[in-house]
Amino acid sequence: MIISMRQHATREELDHVCERIRDFGYKVHSIEGDERVVIGVVGVGDVTACLESLEATPGVESAVRISAPYKFVSREFKKETSVIRLDGMAIGADEFIVMAGPCSVESERQIMETAEAVAEAGARALRGGAFKPRTSPYDFQGLELEGLRLLRKAKERTGLAIVTEIMSDRDVDMVAEYADCMQVGARNMQNFALLKSLGACGRPVLLKRGMSSTIKELLMSAEYIVAHGNPNVILCERGIRTFETVTRNTCDIAAVPVLHEMSHLPVVLDPSHATGKRNLIAPLTRAAVAIGADGVIVEVHPCPEKAVSDGAQSLTLEGFRGMMRELAPYLRLWKESRTPAPAAVASSAQPV
Ligand code: PEP
Ligand code: MN
Repeated sequence: MIISMRQHATREELDHVCERIRDFGYKVHSIEGDERVVIGVVGVGDVTACLESLEATPGVESAVRISAPYKFVSREFKKETSVIRLDGMAIGADEFIVMAGPCSVESERQIMETAEAVAEAGARALRGGAFKPRTSPYDFQGLELEGLRLLRKAKERTGLAIVTEIMSDRDVDMVAEYADCMQVGARNMQNFALLKSLGACGRPVLLKRGMSSTIKELLMSAEYIVAHGNPNVILCERGIRTFETVTRNTCDIAAVPVLHEMSHLPVVLDPSHATGKRNLIAPLTRAAVAIGADGVIVEVHPCPEKAVSDGAQSLTLEGFRGMMRELAPYLRLWKESRTPAPAAVASSAQPV
């Protein structure tokens, strides 16, 4: 059940509602937003009796039964799509957000050159890993703090928001000091200690789908972050493991509208990791626009053949410029689809 308190409900009313919920044997999980308090009710008990009682309790605006186990992130809980504010821009609103940059931050020259080029071509955020989750312990693990400092420098130069990966709950404070958006990678989607810390941290989180995770598991991971106090979650489809070997992963493009249907959180697509192939980034970005994604996150490198990670799935700077040029007409259609049609002019207008 989800209980929404009235906008100006008092502290006494809230305490009383929580007490009533506990009387019915349930646990209370409240989220205090700017405007109102929302209470998640979890546990086993007589749902109907509890709902009826709460509907009649002072301070309660609505009490609804939620069938999905992911309550706070479900569309049932909130009908309007959530708009996540990220350093002055809005994801989930009327702009298709392109985040671009290298897989790993490698050097000052590499990150500056990439940041300037992607900003000029229309990206709104710079991606780049300072902490890298590599399958092999012998591969490049990232520049860590030095990488974060370089990202900050690139932000100061270009104004781009910074999206960078966080791998451990121990690093949350450090990464949050430099990042506008904390990326949780596929390999950490179910790192529950990390998800809980990100709930407490409050910075927007880009949560990537695990490589063998179902859509419901992705939503349950998002629920961890929101239930621990941070509603600013962006979901990311980045391809899943299947029997197909031609592409690195299989891009589950249907996940985009499915997630929009099941959740109010914005959804972006990562065509680089979803395919592993540079030549598939532009077509899949067009697909993301057409299917109504809220943005994309793509890998771009000044010299992909020299990249320390994921060069094969990184666009060159010129490739990125080309993709953005070709995307323009599609983006116009996307924008139209997000803008409500103007109201019909009243026929009874007075002649002048
Ligand atoms: C990345 O974004 O570079 C990355 C490691 O992605 P994923 O977690 O989706 O594999
Ligand atoms: Mn990568």
